Amino acid sequence: MSLSRYDGRLVIVASRHDKAAAITRPMAKLLGVRLWSPPDLDTDQFGTFSGDVARPGTPVEMLHAKIALCRSVLPNPIMVASEGSYAQHPLFRCVALAHEWMIWDDAANGFQLIEHKAAITPHYYAAMLENVAELELLLQRCGWPKLAVTVHPADLNLPSYKGLQTGADIQAAIETLQAAGAKKIQIATDMRANLHPYRQRTIRHLAAKLARRVRTACPQCHQFGFGQRHTESGLECADCRTPSNQLKAICRRCEFCDYRKYTWRAAGQADPFYCPYCNP
Ligand SMILES: [Zn+2]
Ligand SMILES: [Zn+2]
Repeated sequence: MSLSRYDGRLVIVASRHDKAAAITRPMAKLLGVRLWSPPDLDTDQFGTFSGDVARPGTPVEMLHAKIALCRSVLPNPIMVASEGSYAQHPLFRCVALAHEWMIWDDAANGFQLIEHKAAITPHYYAAMLENVAELELLLQRCGWPKLAVTVHPADLNLPSYKGLQTGADIQAAIETLQAAGAKKIQIATDMRANLHPYRQRTIRHLAAKLARRVRTACPQCHQFGFGQRHTESGLECADCRTPSNQLKAICRRCEFCDYRKYTWRAAGQADPFYCPYCNP
């Protein structure tokens, strides 16, 4: 029996930083596809982590833009693209909120699916270098030397230094920017997937999630892409039976026919404390 309707097909990964390597294992295992990334696709025009190119739209718009760019140079019908966004936690600066999106685009069948993964990660850090004595501490928080860093002039229109792995390279980058007149220099973890094994792992998990949905058909309407996670609130109040804000169930949902397959349901009823009628 074949793995999926995509068994043996070629999938182009619309990425520059060798994401194909990160997602080959789950995609091949779950769908039987082969993956390939064009070596010189300029996806940096859609924003870079180092901040020297701002992202010109929402992450989902960027997914579509990367697919469109790739499709303009290659005729392959099936493509995958991904997009990540990392921001420091507003309260706990040593952890970051990570969001990753991935799209499956099968133009021949008009089949498009986007999957998303959010996580809290200690593997992203960015800060301004206020004085040289702090450099060692900032680098440590960035995950260096295990992870590479970027050095970015925040107040000048100069290019960033990326993928810095040795102390000498970091020092040289800072000195060059200072010599050019930069007063504000930002040091950050280099989040490009090829240099960041933790991010690669997140992307791999997301790819597995996406691949499972790609091959799963809805039990009711038989459309592919079944499995979007969905939460339902509205657990009934124990006193008056009004639907409360409390979580009632978690299910997988079909976006075509709204069929729901429940994976968890709350037992019992909601505390009247959460009831909009009993405790408005
Ligand atoms: Zn359905
Ligand atoms: Zn009530």
